[in-house]
Amino acid sequence: MTERVLAGVPASPGTAFGEVRHLDAGDEIDATILDEAARPAAAKRALEALARSAHELEDLAATLRAEGRTGEADILDAGMMMAEDPVLVEAVESAVLARGLPAASAIRVEVEAIAAQLDMIGDPELAARAADVRSLARRASRLAHGDAAPADRSTDRDAILVASDLGPADVIELDGEVRGIALAVGGVTGHAAIVARGLGLPMVVGVGQDLLSLAEGELCIVDGDRSVVIASPDQEHVDTVRQAMVAVRESRARAVAARALPTVTRDGRAVRVLANAATPTEVRAALEAGADGVGLLRTELAFLEAQHWPTVAEHRRSLNPTLSQLKGLTATVRLLDFGGDKTPPFLKGVYGRGIELLLDDTDALSWQLEAILDTGDETELRILIPMVTEPSQVRAVRAAIEPIAARRGNRVPLMAAMVEVPAAAVMADRIAPEVGMFSIGTNDLTSFQLGIDRTRPGGSPAHHPAVLQLVADTVDAARAAGIPVEVCGEAASNPLVMPLLVGLGIDELSVGAAAVARVRAWVRALDYGEASRIARRALNAESAAEVESLERPLRLLLDDAG
Ligand code: PEP
Ligand code: MG
Repeated sequence: MTERVLAGVPASPGTAFGEVRHLDAGDEIDATILDEAARPAAAKRALEALARSAHELEDLAATLRAEGRTGEADILDAGMMMAEDPVLVEAVESAVLARGLPAASAIRVEVEAIAAQLDMIGDPELAARAADVRSLARRASRLAHGDAAPADRSTDRDAILVASDLGPADVIELDGEVRGIALAVGGVTGHAAIVARGLGLPMVVGVGQDLLSLAEGELCIVDGDRSVVIASPDQEHVDTVRQAMVAVRESRARAVAARALPTVTRDGRAVRVLANAATPTEVRAALEAGADGVGLLRTELAFLEAQHWPTVAEHRRSLNPTLSQLKGLTATVRLLDFGGDKTPPFLKGVYGRGIELLLDDTDALSWQLEAILDTGDETELRILIPMVTEPSQVRAVRAAIEPIAARRGNRVPLMAAMVEVPAAAVMADRIAPEVGMFSIGTNDLTSFQLGIDRTRPGGSPAHHPAVLQLVADTVDAARAAGIPVEVCGEAASNPLVMPLLVGLGIDELSVGAAAVARVRAWVRALDYGEASRIARRALNAESAAEVESLERPLRLLLDDAG
C-alpha cells in the first residue's frame, strides 16, 4: 500500500510506530432477532455483563486509588455507577426480552442512545462523558460475548490503537500495551487525552472517519508533535521513527536509573528540578523520574468548562489526587489563571487575566485558598500568584489568606509571585519584599516582551537578549531580598535556554513530567562558572541568533548528557 498522511489535532506529544489495532473491531451491531425461547438466557447474559463491568471498573478504581491516582479512580467510579443505573439495566433487559436483540447488541444500542443524547446537548464536558459511556458499552458487550479481555492484548506490544473515541478507563488499561493512539473524533481536553499525556503515550485525535478505514495490522505512525497519522509509511519514515523511539526508551531507562543522583552542576552549584503538572498522573510520572516536587500546579486546567467560580468542594476534589502524592514534598499551587485562551464559559466577555480576575471576586479567591490549605496541609506548600503586575496584588492575597489560616490553625504558606509580564520584572525590587519566591513564566514573559503570539508554531525565543535581561533583573532583585527564583515556563526544559537560565543564577527549574529526567541530567552536565560567563555575554548580544552562536558550547554538553 502507498503512504497516506491523515491530519488530526495533537493530543499528546511524541512519535510512535506499530501495527493498527482497531479497538472497535468486531463491535458491529448483530442484526439477528432472537427466538422467544432464547431471550431469557440472553437477557440474563446482558445483565450479568453489566454487573461484571461494574465489578471490573470497581477493581480497577481500587487499584488506582491504592496508587494514589484518585482522580482517575473517580472517573471509573462514574462508569461503575452507570453500569448499575436501574434505567439502563431495565432498557437493556427490555431490548432483549421485548425486541429480541442479542445480549451484546442490546447493550450497545441502549448505551449508544444515552451517549447520543449527551452528544446532542453540544456541551464539551458532556461530550467527554459520552466517550466514557461508550467505553462502558465496549466493556460490557465484550463480556456479553464471553471475552474476558479485549482480543489479542498479548500481541499489542507494538500496536497503534485506532478507534472512533475512547474513555479514560480504556487508556489506563492500555498503559504499557500500546505505543500510540489515534482517534477519529475526540478532543484534546477529553479525559482520554489527559490520561494519555500523563502516561507519555503519543496521541492524535480528530483525524476523521477515514482513520477507521485503515486495515487491521497495517503499519502506521502516530506523530503527536506534527499531529499526523501516517498509514503504510515509506521505509525512510519508519527508520527515523524507530530510531527516535529507541532513543526515547534508552534515555528514559538511563534517567530512571539516575533519579537518586543529586542535581548539582559539575562545579557544585545545586539547582532543584521540579515538575509542572495539572493531573495526578503527571505528578506520579514526575516523582518516578526524580522530581523534587511540583513547581507549578496549573489549577485552572481542571475548570476550563466551568459554569461558575469553583466552590471549595470542587477545588478540594480537584486538588486532593495531586496533593495527596506530595506529602513532605514541595507543592507549588498556582491560583486560578483564567483569561486569554483559558477562559471558561462563565467568564466569556470578561476582560482581565490571572490574579486581576480573582481579586475582582473575593469569594472565589477565598474558596480556592481554603481548599488549598485543607488539601495541602501535609506538603511543603507554596501559593503561586499568576500574572502579578504590582506588589498590592500580593498584599491582597495575603490579606485574604491570613484570616483563613488563623481560623483553621494553619500557618500562612510561602507566597510566590509569577514574573510573566514585563511589568513584574521591572518592578521585581518592589515585589520581592512581599513574597518568599519568584517563579518566572517564560511562556508569557517572552510573548509580552517580544510582542509575539505564544502559540505560534516553533515556540518563542526566550533566549532573546531582551527576555534574558528581564530574567537577570528578576534574579538581582531576588538576591537582594534573599529569596529563590524558579523558572516554570517551557524555556526551563529547552536546551537552548536552560543553560543560560542556570548561568543567570536560577535556583529551581520546573518542567513537564516527561522532561524531568532529562533536565536533571543536564544540570549535572553543566559547569555553572562557564554557563555564567556565557549568559552574561548573552545579555549584551543584539539578537536571539547571536545568543545561539554564543551558547553553542553549553548545548553540546547537554547533547552528551541525553
Ligand atoms: C508561563 O507563562 O510561562 C507559565 C508557566 O504559565 P502558563 O504557561 O500556564 O501560562
Ligand atoms: Mg503564564
